[in-house]
Amino acid sequence: MRMTRNREQVYKEIINSPVPLTAYEVSKRLKDMSLTTVYRALEYLYQTGYLKRFSLDNYTYYYSSSVHRHFFRCVECGRLFPIDECHMHDYEKYLSEHFKFKIQEHFVLFSGLCEDCHKKKS
Ligand SMILES: [Zn+2]
Ligand SMILES: [Zn+2]
Repeated sequence: MRMTRNREQVYKEIINSPVPLTAYEVSKRLKDMSLTTVYRALEYLYQTGYLKRFSLDNYTYYYSSSVHRHFFRCVECGRLFPIDECHMHDYEKYLSEHFKFKIQEHFVLFSGLCEDCHKKKS
């Protein structure tokens, strides 16, 4: 692939972040890059398989396709938290046996209240 300087900078921001980022968040971190340039770089990195993405509440979040993580999102403050553990192996085995699926990957996003917001509410 052709890694231009812009693409490389955008890619580095994403892979160094423990949580997925939106184009807007990336552009805030790369102050001399316009949002349009960030969008184009993200689109390229997604199309070439370097990044994965998902949409939530009309925002598109990008994350590195080289790491496997699960995420938790707080519905109150909107923060995303990375979860490094994966306990899906048995569940995948069950699904492939029960439904005859050939599972290639999975993406897990939990939602609810984070510790801070939970404390505030109680
Ligand atoms: Zn919260
Ligand atoms: Zn997993």
